[in-house]
Amino acid sequence: MPHVITQSCCSDGSCVYACPVNCIHPSPDEPEFASAEMLYIDPVACVDCGACVSACPVGAIAPDSRLTIDQQPFIALNALFYEPVHAARPADKKLPPTSKLAPVIPAPEIHGNHNGPLTVAIVGSGPAAMYAADELLTQPGVRVNVFEKLPTPYGLVRAGVAPDHQTTKRVTKLFDRIARRREFRFYLNVEVGDQLSHADVLAHHHAVIYAVGAPNDKRLDIDGMDLPGTNTATELVAWINGHPDYVDLPVDLGHERVIVIGNGNVALDVARVLTADPDELAHTDIADHALAALRESKVREVVVAARRGPEHSAFTLPELIGLTSSAEVVLGEADRGAVRRGLATATDMLTKQKLEVLSTLGHAENPAMSRARIRLAYNLTPQRVLGQRRASGMEFAVTGTDEVQTIDAGLVLTSIGYHGKAIKDLPFDDEAGVVPNDGGRVTQAEGAYVAGWIKRGPTGFIGTNKSCAAQTVQRLVDDYNAGLLRDPVAKPSALDRLVRQRQPQIVDAKGWRAIDAAEIARGEVADRPRVKFTSVADMVEVAAAAPAPSLRSRVVERIRELA
Ligand code: NAP
Repeated sequence: MPHVITQSCCSDGSCVYACPVNCIHPSPDEPEFASAEMLYIDPVACVDCGACVSACPVGAIAPDSRLTIDQQPFIALNALFYEPVHAARPADKKLPPTSKLAPVIPAPEIHGNHNGPLTVAIVGSGPAAMYAADELLTQPGVRVNVFEKLPTPYGLVRAGVAPDHQTTKRVTKLFDRIARRREFRFYLNVEVGDQLSHADVLAHHHAVIYAVGAPNDKRLDIDGMDLPGTNTATELVAWINGHPDYVDLPVDLGHERVIVIGNGNVALDVARVLTADPDELAHTDIADHALAALRESKVREVVVAARRGPEHSAFTLPELIGLTSSAEVVLGEADRGAVRRGLATATDMLTKQKLEVLSTLGHAENPAMSRARIRLAYNLTPQRVLGQRRASGMEFAVTGTDEVQTIDAGLVLTSIGYHGKAIKDLPFDDEAGVVPNDGGRVTQAEGAYVAGWIKRGPTGFIGTNKSCAAQTVQRLVDDYNAGLLRDPVAKPSALDRLVRQRQPQIVDAKGWRAIDAAEIARGEVADRPRVKFTSVADMVEVAAAAPAPSLRSRVVERIRELA
């Protein structure tokens, strides 16, 4: 009864370190890790101890006898990785059980040539930020202050992961545990770069790690992208998830067809949610305004249009398997031909597997079986958005030909990737959308480090940020131990005073827990995981009403300040 890794694998590698027989690969120290779409358990070597199940933060691992029907394909997928004929990695590269490598963060020298323990500010509170905090707090005495511009933490896990992927959102339980550590502190509803400058923050810390993600979309430079009825998939996802900045996004679902340009995992998320049964979404944490709009939706088909052929599909295999088990997904005649040609020539295991799944899809020419369906379309290079006053469709060139194809649609969404945004007082590579860095150390700004998408660009999964953050923390602690980081100028209480002076409506950990509890309570009555607050004012009000800290916690806090 070997264990199996399933669709919601976040690739953070916790299972690899927990496994006593080293049967989970690729591990973060293996070269294939960087491009792996998920991790795989070797069914022959697995000893069924279940250690990986407890270690996995997103509940993605189960014994093969306990998988749901939809999860069954993952038994073969895990095993396939270890078959020498298909193996993406040679079998003889398996590490012996004793050579498991956990990230080794050098211990900060206790004070050493410094005037107090290592104190680090982290800007942003998504996965990269929380994994960086986790790594830093493995060392005794280290202090971490996390600054987040929203009153709620966890970045894209709250505002980016699709609401029908609730197991993925379970990683917030791990983040909650990290945030409860004694040396961790939240400064929520505080914007670094606006209410506080880099210099302000650095004056109170040895270093500042920016883990702010890549908040902008890549823009598609074609005519008509400014028409009403066009939008970006990432904004739509933020609207679906109740991000306060996107509550008023105009989303018109009053037409039969939506076109999504690009076919990465974000495109699949959007297509899935737009075609899902609203009664099923009603049991998730989807924003109320989005659920109401989806109940009224006239959308019958979402076309996911890629500019290249099926062998270059940007979505991952686990997500494709998940999509086909939860939605009606079809292909047109020309695309079925492209899949057949791809299958005849594909050599690598992953591409073959994707094409195999695509070859089983229904025919777009047949009448729809479900309320709304998804059509995957290939070799369509976007030329312009059609329409005078609002979008009425898209004109594509059939890639590599002079042929033009038009598709009618009432909503056109681009889903062509994210792009980083410049950070005040830090250098920025506008082309790549990242802060130039050496393994996380920002080369031209004192005391500044980066982790996550602003460091390496918008690729990878939630757990990819664990090894990314670990590398940054290694650099930072090396610099601290080498005496390269200046001591903070003041005691922690001075930071508190400064922040409260600049942002009186700061939300702390207690305030966040009050918001969290109130959202969960609102969800309980409706059989939902939570009902989110979508206005900053409401969140701040709930946080402010949280009971005052006990005498004991105030004493502990005072001792912390005096230390
Ligand atoms: P992505 O995976 O980079 O996909 C971008 C898509 O846009 C590709 O199909 C790309 O086509 C297309 N594209 C780029 N420029 C274009 C242009 N000018 N015209 C037409 N098409 C263009 O981006 P994403 O979907 O935003 O995902 C970002 C990252 O988040 C990925 O690593 C993804 O796996 C991850 N993510 C994971 C999950 C999950 O695990 N469930 C969910 C969401 C996101 P080409 O390939 O031809 O360039």
